[in-house]
Amino acid sequence: MKVTSTLSALPPLMEWLGAFGIVGVLWYGSREIALGQLSSGEFTSFVAALLLMYGPVRKLSRVNANIQQAVAASERVFEMLDTHSEARDSPEARPLMPLRNEISFSEVSFSYADGGDTVLEEVSFSVRAGQVIAIVGLSGAGKTTLVNLVPRFYDPISGSIEIDGVDIRRVTRNSLRRQIGIVTQETVLFDDTIAKNIAYASQDADPKMVETAARAAHAHEFIVTLPDGYETIIGERGQRLSGGQRQRLAIARALLRNSPILILDEATSSLDSFSERLIQSSIESMHEKCTILVIAHRLATVVNADRIVVLDHGKLVESGTKEELLQIDGQFSKLWRIQIDIRTQ
Ligand code: ADP
Repeated sequence: MKVTSTLSALPPLMEWLGAFGIVGVLWYGSREIALGQLSSGEFTSFVAALLLMYGPVRKLSRVNANIQQAVAASERVFEMLDTHSEARDSPEARPLMPLRNEISFSEVSFSYADGGDTVLEEVSFSVRAGQVIAIVGLSGAGKTTLVNLVPRFYDPISGSIEIDGVDIRRVTRNSLRRQIGIVTQETVLFDDTIAKNIAYASQDADPKMVETAARAAHAHEFIVTLPDGYETIIGERGQRLSGGQRQRLAIARALLRNSPILILDEATSSLDSFSERLIQSSIESMHEKCTILVIAHRLATVVNADRIVVLDHGKLVESGTKEELLQIDGQFSKLWRIQIDIRTQ
């Protein structure tokens, strides 16, 4: 607004100054001619030069405004470039060693805003390396928030998460995230070939490894039916594929990465129940090599988990195997009954 008002004030100001200038020159010139100190020819050429100068001077007056505008705009751009969405690693942060024993959550509480609603309240549980842990609960219970604390997308407001006894706030983010593969409901795919999309996080993977990952994610079947197979270009954000196919590619990408910790947040939600179960079982078959935290809406897909953790309004209310949880008449049995009823109707 400041720039606009300055720019609008400039032309009238220049017109006024110009008009006064000309009047002044005419008055002075005619006086000098009357006194015989200036010839009318000299005066005419002076006035002509003056008029020719008027245009460039007017333009010059805009230069400062343009420069100010550019400075203001670039300040905004640099502000954006300098923004760090995350706090930097502390100077004493050390690289994290690959997970060997367990991930433990101790009394983890979290809220998105200072003094805002508590999304997680003193959640404590631990996951042994190689286990598959399912996190279930109603929508809004805090499942996604809980798993997002592991790669440190957010830090708990109290309590801590430790990997092999080391608080994850004391390790470098880079080394922490290198150990984690994440597949969420939203897949991020690029306008490139299928093979390159799968190998995105593992640049040195050879075509054989890409195919093995695609087979484990049950993506190989549909890939070979495409005209160029693994070399098919999938379009912006993978728009030439169905939701289920996109999810299979995202799963293949995470499997190829071979991370010690795998987070699956509704990773199979766009698939039909049959494919979902197939993929779930091939993922679970890898669990000797990796520790899996899985959030799944369809409970049938998590029955084989080593342990199921039930969240309700940010609190851990139950935890155990499917059989143990079905024995107590709690939240899990209630959810289970609802889903079984829906399936049998
Ligand atoms: P779930 O995965 O169990 O459905 P979420 O972890 O996504 O639950 O959400 C838990 C609560 O946190 C919800 O009340 C949700 O509205 C809130 N929430 C989730 N993400 C954000 C965010 N980025 N900012 C503020 N509130 C959020």
